[in-house]
Amino acid sequence: MRTLVAIAILLAGATALHAAEAPPVLVYPCERVAAPPVVDGRLDDAAWEKAALVSGFTYHDRRELVPVQTAFRVVYDAQALYVGVRCEEPLWQKMVPGAPGMRDTHGAVFGGEAIELFIDPKHNHSDYYQIAANSDATLFDGKGTDSAWNSRAKVATRISEGGWSLEIALPWTDFEVRPEPGLVIGFNVCRDRNIAPDKLWSTWAPIAANFHDPLRFGHLVLSATPEMIGRLGDEFRKGGLAGPIRVFAAEGFSGTTYLALAARSLETLEATLKELDSLRQQEKSPAVAAALAKRIAAAREMTAPIAVKVKGNQAFDAAEWVRADSQMQQLRLELEKAVWNARLEALLSGI
Ligand SMILES: [Zn+2]
Repeated sequence: MRTLVAIAILLAGATALHAAEAPPVLVYPCERVAAPPVVDGRLDDAAWEKAALVSGFTYHDRRELVPVQTAFRVVYDAQALYVGVRCEEPLWQKMVPGAPGMRDTHGAVFGGEAIELFIDPKHNHSDYYQIAANSDATLFDGKGTDSAWNSRAKVATRISEGGWSLEIALPWTDFEVRPEPGLVIGFNVCRDRNIAPDKLWSTWAPIAANFHDPLRFGHLVLSATPEMIGRLGDEFRKGGLAGPIRVFAAEGFSGTTYLALAARSLETLEATLKELDSLRQQEKSPAVAAALAKRIAAAREMTAPIAVKVKGNQAFDAAEWVRADSQMQQLRLELEKAVWNARLEALLSGI
C-alpha cells in the first residue's frame, strides 16, 4: 500500500488536469451612473459612455465566434440595472416592426429576433431569472423555468441601419438584493436569431449548451475596484470552474485587476506549498520526502516569474494574465492533490 501511495505522489505532477483548456470565467465591472439612460431603444445616452462595450458572442454549444455578432453594455443606479444591447443584423431591412409592450408567457418571443438576459442576483447558481425581449419589445419573464413570475422591467427596441438595439431597465425590487458596491451578480446575455434559414443561438458566457446554465454565467461586480475583484477570485470560480478569469474593462483597469488576482492566487499557492512542506518534514520514507521536495521546488520555480511581477507591482496585459492564471490554476489543482496524497500517506503509515 505504501508503495502505491508513493507512486501516486510521484505521478501527481504529471497528471493532466486541463485547467488551461477550461472555458474562461467572465467578469464585468459594472459602473454606477448618476443619470440613468432613457429607455427608448437608442443607445445614445451619456450613461453608456461610462461602460465597457462587450462583444465576442459564441455558439451556444461550442466556443467559436458566431458570424453575426452582438455587443452590450451594463450600468446601474439605486433603482435598476440597465442593459443596452446592439444586435448586428445583415438582414435588418427584412425586419418588420410589430406592436410592442405585450407580455408573452408561452415563449413566442423566442421564435423571433430576441435577446435573453439571465440574472442570478445572489450569485448562488440557482435562484436566477430569465428576462427576454424580442425586437418588438415584447417581454418574456420567468424565475428559473417558471414563467408565472412577472418582472417590472421596462424595455424598448429600435431597428436601424445594420441591425437592431434593445434597452432595458431591470428594477432591483424584482431581485430582492440591495445594489451595494462589490455585489456579485451572475449574468449572461444570449441571442436568438431566427431571421435567416440557419437559426443561430449565441451567448456571451461559455455555457455548456443550454441557456439555463447558471454555473457558467458571467459575473457583474457593482462599482468594482481592482482590489475588490482581486479578492473575489474564488467567488467567480465557485462550483469548480478552473478556466482563466477574464475582466471586461478598460486596459488600465483590467491590468491592475489581473495583478490583484495574481497576488491572491500566489498567496493561496504559497499556503498550499507550506502545507505540503510540513507534510514533507513529517514524512518517514526518504524517497517520498525527496519526491515532495522536488515537487515543491518545481512549483516555486514555475511561479517565480509571476511572483517577480506581483512584487514589482507590474500590471499584466490580457495575454500574460491568461497564461499566468491558467498555470496557477493547474498548479493549484496538482498541489491540492499532492497534499491529499501526502495526508493519506501519513495516515496509512500511522496504522
Ligand atoms: Zn458564478
